[in-house]
Amino acid sequence: MKAKRAAIRGAKAARGRRIALFGGTFDPIHSGHVAVASAAERRFHLDGVFFIPSSRPPHKPSEELCAFEHRFAMVALACSAHPRFVPSLAEASVNGASPQLFYSIDTVRRFRRQFDRPGDRIYFIVGADSFLHLQTWKDYAELLQLSDFVVANRPGFQIRKLREVIPAALLAPPAAKESRDSRVIHLRNTSVYLLETVASHVSATDVRQRVERGRSLHGLVPPRVEEYITKQELYRQALYT
Ligand code: ATP
Repeated sequence: MKAKRAAIRGAKAARGRRIALFGGTFDPIHSGHVAVASAAERRFHLDGVFFIPSSRPPHKPSEELCAFEHRFAMVALACSAHPRFVPSLAEASVNGASPQLFYSIDTVRRFRRQFDRPGDRIYFIVGADSFLHLQTWKDYAELLQLSDFVVANRPGFQIRKLREVIPAALLAPPAAKESRDSRVIHLRNTSVYLLETVASHVSATDVRQRVERGRSLHGLVPPRVEEYITKQELYRQALYT
């Protein structure tokens, strides 16, 4: 972990540090998440991808989630196979207190304070399905201006829908940042990039249901995560409908 952080600290000073934040419930982390993070790492030449499991995400009831400790452990196991993937405790409850709500805007502000050198860039990774609900997120307009967004394609998603979510007032004037690249939407200070090279059908819901039905998880989650789920006997009960 120390080595990973040192690598990020020492990233080419000339161009600043480039990191991505990838938040989620990660219940459990799966191959779709890893594919998205790897594709973003390659395309944006990232120095680090921080995986941030939320101890209590605003949009999911916490009693239906697997314990934070298990979700974090699985994220850490998945990250161990990738030198630039960092498991983050940024949205863990403090000192075992009952889970508090975490909002992405607060998490991004926190990382902004840490990565505040000129040239530092923060990308916020999100799946296309989540991005379409952006307007329900706390201070979403400010969030859009605080970091670049990397929107990961999900099967069946239509690119034009991305634009509909972004308030017109935030868009850069057409002449200011002309782009022929349909995968990029320029805002006044930031950009929204579509990561169209990934189209994984895996979802955590599917993974949980497969365990419940006694089916194999081979290829759907990293091997160490599969081993952890088996050893800890996670997702065996029909908690999820
Ligand atoms: P669930 O099925 O429980 O809703 P999930 O598979 O969507 O979970 P989350 O932890 O909620 O997983 O997702 C974290 C982020 O990763 C979200 O922004 C989500 O849109 C994105 N994501 C999840 N799976 C994929 C996938 N297969 N391809 C692209 N993005 C994904």
